[in-house]
Amino acid sequence: MKIVVVGANHAGTACINTMLDNYKGNEIVVFDQNSNISFLGCGMALWIGGQISGPEGLFYSSKDKLEAKGAKIHMETEVTNIDFDKKIVYATGKDGKKYQESYDKLILSTGSLPINPEIPGKDLDNVQFVKLYQHAEEVINKLKERPEIKTVAVVGAGYIGVELAEAFKRWGKDVHLIDFCDECLSTYYDKPFRDKMDTQLLNNGVKLNYKQLVKEIKGDKRVQAVVTDKGEYQVDMVVLCIGFRPNSALGKGKLNLFRNGAYVVDRTQKTSLDDVYAIGDCATVFDNSIDDINYIALATNAVRSGIVAAHNVCGTKLESIGVQGSNGISIFGYNMVSTGLTLEKAQRLGIDALETTFHDLQKPEFMEHNNEQVSIRIVYRKDDRTIIGAQIASKQDISMAIHLFSLAVQEKVTIDKFKLLDIFFLPHFNKPYNYITMAALGAK
Ligand SMILES: Cc1cc2nc3c(=O)[nH]c(=O)nc-3n(C[C@H](O)[C@H](O)[C@H](O)COP(=O)(O)OP(=O)(O)OC[C@H]3O[C@@H](n4cnc5c(N)ncnc54)[C@H](O)[C@@H]3O)c2cc1C
Repeated sequence: MKIVVVGANHAGTACINTMLDNYKGNEIVVFDQNSNISFLGCGMALWIGGQISGPEGLFYSSKDKLEAKGAKIHMETEVTNIDFDKKIVYATGKDGKKYQESYDKLILSTGSLPINPEIPGKDLDNVQFVKLYQHAEEVINKLKERPEIKTVAVVGAGYIGVELAEAFKRWGKDVHLIDFCDECLSTYYDKPFRDKMDTQLLNNGVKLNYKQLVKEIKGDKRVQAVVTDKGEYQVDMVVLCIGFRPNSALGKGKLNLFRNGAYVVDRTQKTSLDDVYAIGDCATVFDNSIDDINYIALATNAVRSGIVAAHNVCGTKLESIGVQGSNGISIFGYNMVSTGLTLEKAQRLGIDALETTFHDLQKPEFMEHNNEQVSIRIVYRKDDRTIIGAQIASKQDISMAIHLFSLAVQEKVTIDKFKLLDIFFLPHFNKPYNYITMAALGAK
């Protein structure tokens, strides 16, 4: 069987590796328009902020590694068109070389693109995007070579914007974080949790400019100011991170698309056309918190969807178990993790939801060192009491606890099941009346 893969970043790489590791005898041909693959975007802020020494460890695969296993990889080669009826992929290399590749099965893993807002000044020098390795490299080179860059505006206070605000502060820059929402991280956390992160940002010197829309970037060749509907800020660099859109141009008009343009896929990652699969940021996911398809662009989802598609394409039926959008963020040592729906999001979707929230120390009071406040919120449906989301925040590393709630959302566990759940106690780790128990016991 001949399998063509378009895009070989996280989703594509996971898919290609799974096919090569588990199934023999297939011809696998891969196209990627970039010069590198498998760049971990999660390391971008760490690299820019100098928390890691360099980008080398941010790659885990390469053309050579995949070819050593038997795939044919064309780097710097863009797929320009696909004839879905004749099952032919057309591509053009950086050197102008044209390719025509027929396929039995096609896997689209073309990912997502940063949203590029139509505002005056967006093409000025020092207006930056943050998605690719090359983007991060350019930002770092400019910070090194242009000491006149003293003030940076980060537009978009989602998790990438918040991480970058920290990174630029670590460079000693003045940082304006701009967003039209009232607080940061509006997708993943309820207001009490968003407020905690905003306090953390403020305490570390980030200037928060919320409830305002960027209208223009001013400058003469280079950025000089960013203008919103509330004010004008003198800045030397503008970083746009207002979101990503699925990169689905190749299938437009031929494949069914979700409301934001992502390829609609079933639980085997198959699109609306037989023999055509879509994975990662260009495709929908099945979201267990709403029991429906949704769009959640995360590397974790990309990798899992790649594995699922690989098995189905190669003849082993495997259905995705769905996702909860589990995520985490750590800013100047303050950690927040969440899964599923926030109360606000549930309400926006018309779900009759309740929440139970509890604040406590991580460990008993007599543990005087390394013992921090923890806040937990569990969101559950009023009708059948199933848990649909959770959020936890602390300076302590509380990250592992969110996996429990991810499973609870996936398996439709009720809040009441948590009330007397066997949670161990050891002073080194937690309290005898654990905050998970206490939050559950407090549920109405
Ligand atoms: C700054 C940043 C931080 C992030 N942090 C996290 C994190 O901490 N945790 C997490 O889970 N997720 C994180 N993400 C999200 C994560 O990076 C994405 O979900 C992930 O990259 C999606 O992988 P993908 O393979 O589906 O798509 P992409 O990474 O977008 O890759 C798509 C690939 O397709 C290729 N391609 C596209 N079109 C064509 C074409 N026509 N022809 C040939 N090749 C093509 C591209 O060159 C690219 O290599 C972060 C993202 C960013 C930008």
